[in-house]
Parts: sequence; structure tokens; C-alpha cells
Amino acid sequence: MELFDVTIIGGGPAGLYSAFYSGMRNMKTKIIEVQPILGGKVNIYPEKILWDVGGLPPIQAQHFVQNLINQAKTFSPTICLNTKVEQITKQGEIFVISTDSGEIHYSKTIIVAVGGGILNPIKLEVEGADKYAMSNLHYTILGLKRFQNKRVLVSGGGNGAIDWAVELLPVAKEVTVIYRGEQLSAHESQVEKLKQHDVNIMLNAEIQSLLSNRNQTRIAQVVISQNGNSLLLPVDDVLVCHGYQREMSLSFADEIKPNVKDDYYLVSHGQCRTSVPGVFAAGDIIYYEDKVNLLAGAFQDAVLAVNSAKLYIDPKAEKYAMVSSHNEKFLEKNKDLVQKCDLQCLT
Ligand SMILES: Cc1cc2nc3c(=O)[nH]c(=O)nc-3n(C[C@H](O)[C@H](O)[C@H](O)COP(=O)(O)OP(=O)(O)OC[C@H]3O[C@@H](n4cnc5c(N)ncnc54)[C@H](O)[C@@H]3O)c2cc1C
Repeated sequence: MELFDVTIIGGGPAGLYSAFYSGMRNMKTKIIEVQPILGGKVNIYPEKILWDVGGLPPIQAQHFVQNLINQAKTFSPTICLNTKVEQITKQGEIFVISTDSGEIHYSKTIIVAVGGGILNPIKLEVEGADKYAMSNLHYTILGLKRFQNKRVLVSGGGNGAIDWAVELLPVAKEVTVIYRGEQLSAHESQVEKLKQHDVNIMLNAEIQSLLSNRNQTRIAQVVISQNGNSLLLPVDDVLVCHGYQREMSLSFADEIKPNVKDDYYLVSHGQCRTSVPGVFAAGDIIYYEDKVNLLAGAFQDAVLAVNSAKLYIDPKAEKYAMVSSHNEKFLEKNKDLVQKCDLQCLT
């Protein structure tokens, strides 16, 4: 039985930054992530360019994730991938974490950083849709190049759909957006960009059926119903962004069930503490007034959760971590960086 100071459930931005910060506070740290890769939701928009992370120039999400992973590994936390946490119980002072592989993990504290849970895209409910999932029916975009000069139909009117439609504008030959509602619900400025580019936006419209090519391997045309009429649209690719179904796999034993909001979010009782002593939360999973569901918000939560975990284990510890320039391990690492002239981040 190897006992950890902190076990972080979820290896998205909140979990990764928690791991870094936990190392800075000299705690023995483990991350458990259900997916085969770290990075969380950011992996569903790898080519998106992020402009809104403090101190970073515009950066593609996939590079941002890699930086985040490298940073999380600074203090060599234990990382368990492909491992779904199923249940958390408590034996005396120790949390016992059961996983789908049958492995049991032991920890003095827990930081829950499971974001929106395990996300599965809501599938297109049209007969035969599944058979195109390997060819030209998509639920996210893993690389924009593939859509070069293509006629792309985007189904959906929320941020996911409209963000992708905007990203496709300089790449695709033609972008059509269909949405069953009366008005697109995405961010105004993004909708404006679509309108400026004369994108064909069809409201009160939805996919009725898919017509295949002669070999039955790809979608060649889409039958769209709009206001009671049926229209035929030739396409090269169809992108469906109808949101995600959330699988909250994680459960707590009755005696350590944290307070939740809307049957899901862990309610913060200040400093990212849940109602259960020793259980903390960070990122999209936590609820408090003024919570910001952005990367910047996840980082702030991580700092608070880690500091709270540190004080839970050692009530006499400093309330906050020292700034990084005061950390002894960094003094050594800084010498290496200077020697290697790897001063990118210092210039
Ligand atoms: C399309 C889109 C675009 C976005 N664009 C931006 C942007 O431009 N700027 C910005 O600041 N924010 C953006 N965001 C928001 C940002 O991605 C999230 O706020 C951030 O990812 C939250 O991080 P998190 O670690 O809390 O959760 P997540 O990223 O959801 O990570 C949670 C992790 O926990 C894992 N997990 C879940 N359940 C279990 C379990 N039982 N056991 C083990 N592991 C588990 C999941 O697999 C996942 O890896 C965007 C979000 C989306 C969906």
C-alpha cells in the first residue's frame, strides 16, 4: 500500500496544474486519468488557437496541452492513464480510491478535477449514420487540413458548432450551418464572423437523412428539412456538434458524499474545499459564485485546492506556496536552463 499525499482525479488542465503546484508544495502526488492521454477537454479542440491564457502568445491548443503536461511532470508525479476512478471510500484517515481496473489507490487527500466527466458526443440520430463515422461524419475536428477545399455541413448552433464553422472558413470551399432553433446560441462575435463571410446559415432546419455515394462508403448528399420543406445538399463532410453526454462515473461512499449542485457540480465551501474534509475540487467540476469555466479559472482553482490540501495534511504549513523563484528545486533547475541557454522564457 503506497500512500500519497494528494491524488488528483482527472488529468485535464485543472488536474495537470494541480500536479505541478502540489509538487511545488513538496507533496507526494498522483494523477489518475481515464483516457489514454492527458489534457482533458482541450484534446477535443487541438487546432484551435488560444488567445486568452495569461502570459502566453496565441498558441494552438495541442501545443498548449503539451506545455501543460511538461510542466505537470516537473516534480515527477505518478501518472496512471487508462484508469477510471469508480468509487472513493475512507478507512480511518485514508481515502481509498477504487478503479475500473481493480487497482486500489490510497491517499491522504483527494483533488477532484474531472471537469465535465467522461464526455461522449451526442450522436446524430439518423438511420445508418454510424456507418459513416469512419469516413466523413465527424463529431469533432482533429485536423483542419483534411477539410481543405471541401464542402462542409456543420450541424448545431452552440459554441462548439459555431467555433468550428469559423475555424473552417479559411480552409473549406464552402461552409453551411444548420440549426434546429430559431437563433444561433453561440457567442455573438463568432456568429458575426459567419455572417460577414456570407456563410449559408439555415435555421429551423435539421438533418433528415443521409444519402451515400455509389459505393455506400461516404455521405454524398444530406436531406435537410426546414420549415416543413425538404432540401438536398451535396457535401464532402458533415460535422455534428450537438453537445456532449456526461458520464459521471465517480461516486463517493455515503458517509463522505460531498454537497453537489445540479446533481453534479461539487460545491466549494471556500478555498476549493468540498463539504468533506480532505476532498478538494478544481476546474469545471467545482461550483461557487463567480466561478469562471476557463483555463484561467482552472489554474486559480488548482492553486487553492492544493494549498487547502497542504493545510489539511499539515495545519502549520505556510498558507500559500512560496513564489517559484524561492523554491529550492527551481534554483537548481534554473542553473541548468541558463547553462543550456534555453532562455526563451526569460527573454
Ligand atoms: C470547444 C471548447 C473550446 C474551449 N475554448 C476555450 C478557450 O479558448 N479558452 C479557455 O480558457 N477555455 C476554453 N474552453 C474551456 C476549457 O477547455 C475548460 O475550462 C478546461 O478544459 C477545464 O479543465 P478541467 O481540467 O476542469 O476539465 P477537463 O478538461 O474536462 O478534464 C477533466 C479530465 O478528467 C477525466 N476524468 C473524468 N472522469 C474521470 C474518472 N472517473 N476517472 C479518471 N479521470 C476522469 C477526463 O477524462 C478529463 O481528462 C473550451 C472548452 C470547449 C469544450
